[in-house]
Amino acid sequence: MNFGLSKKLQSLPPYLFLEIDKAKRKARAQGRDIIDLGIGDPDQPTPKHIIDILYKASLDPVNHRYALDQGMPVLRRSISHWYNKIFNVSLNPEREILPLIGSKEGIAHFPLAFLNQGDYSLVPDPCYPPYKGGTILAGGKVHLMPLLSSNEFLPDFKKIPKGILRKAKIMFLNYPNNPTGATAGKDFFRDAINFARRHKIIIVSDLAYSQMSYDGYRPPSMLELKGARDTVIEFHSLSKTYNMTGWRVGWACGNENLVSALAKVKSNVDSGIFSAIQLAAVAALEGGFGHMQDMCSLYQERRDLLFKGLNSLGWQANNPKATFYVWIKVPGKYDSIKFAGLILDKADIVVTPGVGFGKYGEGYIRMALTVSKERIKEAVVRLRGLSP
Ligand SMILES: *Cc1c(COP(=O)(O)O)cnc(C)c1O
Repeated sequence: MNFGLSKKLQSLPPYLFLEIDKAKRKARAQGRDIIDLGIGDPDQPTPKHIIDILYKASLDPVNHRYALDQGMPVLRRSISHWYNKIFNVSLNPEREILPLIGSKEGIAHFPLAFLNQGDYSLVPDPCYPPYKGGTILAGGKVHLMPLLSSNEFLPDFKKIPKGILRKAKIMFLNYPNNPTGATAGKDFFRDAINFARRHKIIIVSDLAYSQMSYDGYRPPSMLELKGARDTVIEFHSLSKTYNMTGWRVGWACGNENLVSALAKVKSNVDSGIFSAIQLAAVAALEGGFGHMQDMCSLYQERRDLLFKGLNSLGWQANNPKATFYVWIKVPGKYDSIKFAGLILDKADIVVTPGVGFGKYGEGYIRMALTVSKERIKEAVVRLRGLSP
């Protein structure tokens, strides 16, 4: 029987990453020694003190029952402390913080709270896919804001047509940025907040990479800026910061009306985060900064090695101040899918074609710093043998 997929589901952009995963598994099944620079998933384990708390908490039957929808008070307080220590921003744990089953879930559900049929989201392109997916599943429309190297991968608000602005309710921003590795300064954030207030647009700030930065650079939170609390909801995650991608825990914070609207959507679709994971998240957030420093120096060494290697090949790449992504201009006249295919076939290396993040990602590939230095060295040796 053919039940006919919903129009919304049919209008989602194709999900390229499944195809890449298939090609990768096929290559591995053939016994090839694949270096995977494709996925943004930390290769290091979750710190042990966090796992210990999960284990202990999971033995307590109290934690086996439904959790509180809005997260445990102790977790909301830890998030508040953490924000205060890192960004010097104070958040009310009851009203301005909402724990999430990973930030992707919250980001994808958020448009359901505010978009009506035909309303627009302003979405950077290339971007993390749920900004588009969440908008479309909520019945909204996507207006792309191109992220171009000529503008340091920042959107140009002046280019958004007036007719779109009238129907725009949400703008997604993500700095430090996946996939380009770009960062944004406070001046840009200030402009964005003024622009959003003037046009009555909600800013969704995705700050998943705030703790992954190099050379002494410290990414700011938008909530540090004046007026942000009128219009900003910020999304955070333990995934990258604490090597906890599989655990599924993050949070939203900021403007209390935005936070409570998201809570209302979620109360209809899920029943909270496993309590033992919430307690482990508390252990992570209160566990000090030693782990983060080690993590950043590890990625920084890998970044330096890969950047130097790519330079020696004559490839044009950014040297990211934050995130674990290197965004590389495709050399020669290949498109990004062809070039990624060539790298897999000829060098046994998985990279992500830029077009997988949107049409303005065409002409680029993304490499993730999620393999050891030895493997990065090996990857550069193999790429040297490629002559595009
Ligand atoms: C990895 C990532 C996240 C984190 O998602 P979780 O659902 O919390 O694992 C959020 N935003 C971006 C841009 C990311 O790359």
